[in-house]
Amino acid sequence: MEINIDELFEKQFERSIHFKNVFKNIDNVKTRKIEFDNFYYVLQFNPCRIGSATADTTKKVSSKECFLCEGHRFENQIGVEYNSNYDIFVNPFPIFKKHLTIVDKHHVEQEILGQEDIMIEMAESLQGFTVFYNSRHSGASAPFHRHFQACSSYELPVFAQWNTLFFDEGKNVKKLSEQCVLKYDGTRYFFMIQTSDNLSAGENLKNILLRLKEVCQTVSPEANVGVTVEKGVYKIVIFPRSKHRPEEYFTQGEEHLTISPGFADMAGIIPCAVQEDYLKLNKDMIISVFNQVTLEVKTI
Ligand SMILES: [Zn+2]
Repeated sequence: MEINIDELFEKQFERSIHFKNVFKNIDNVKTRKIEFDNFYYVLQFNPCRIGSATADTTKKVSSKECFLCEGHRFENQIGVEYNSNYDIFVNPFPIFKKHLTIVDKHHVEQEILGQEDIMIEMAESLQGFTVFYNSRHSGASAPFHRHFQACSSYELPVFAQWNTLFFDEGKNVKKLSEQCVLKYDGTRYFFMIQTSDNLSAGENLKNILLRLKEVCQTVSPEANVGVTVEKGVYKIVIFPRSKHRPEEYFTQGEEHLTISPGFADMAGIIPCAVQEDYLKLNKDMIISVFNQVTLEVKTI
């Protein structure tokens, strides 16, 4: 399926100055790189993310007040149909130079199970993009309405460093099969799947998600998932999660951080809605935050 995303952006910018402005800001956003031994995180000073960073995700929200439902969306937000179940919108509070929200046409709870193949299909359709998912208690600011997001893959450190990470044979790497590895890099646990067979990509993803649900006994698997397809190669990263926010989020004073990690953070881009966080975040804080929200997985 061919979808003209550039045209969607153009139309959205013509329709609303807000979208034009926020994406212009993203083009000029301040960033700071924090290097570890074999990987890095990028901090981004992004005040427009304050709503997502502090969203009350415990509230029951009906379709009558849901910002992903028709009639309550961001002012002058326009979409394009992806298929009979999903529409694509430009994200009104971007982290990325290209940032989309892919929204279920129905007001149903956030859930990836049963949607793995469609997620992979979306990644096939959106060439150059990574389609990603935040589970209900792991960064989704609308757990009440199923949605995915998409961003340009090159902006994500985990995909930019894919080969180094996938083929690394360090001591904290477990090769689960020819196509799948489980890694711990000192900050987070993650699975990486690489295959040129879309069926096998889907099977691997489903198996890991079902195991995570079983192990954690949660209603839905708690994880951040990203899928990209490059030259016929399917690449999937899964960050299993133990909690939504680190303790620093709930403390006051010096130690406080307004950070609620979602896929972007786990994949290496940390949007800081508060300038103080952007300035003070350092290696030790990153180690602390990510080790709290990751789920320790020894095997699957
Ligand atoms: Zn809704």
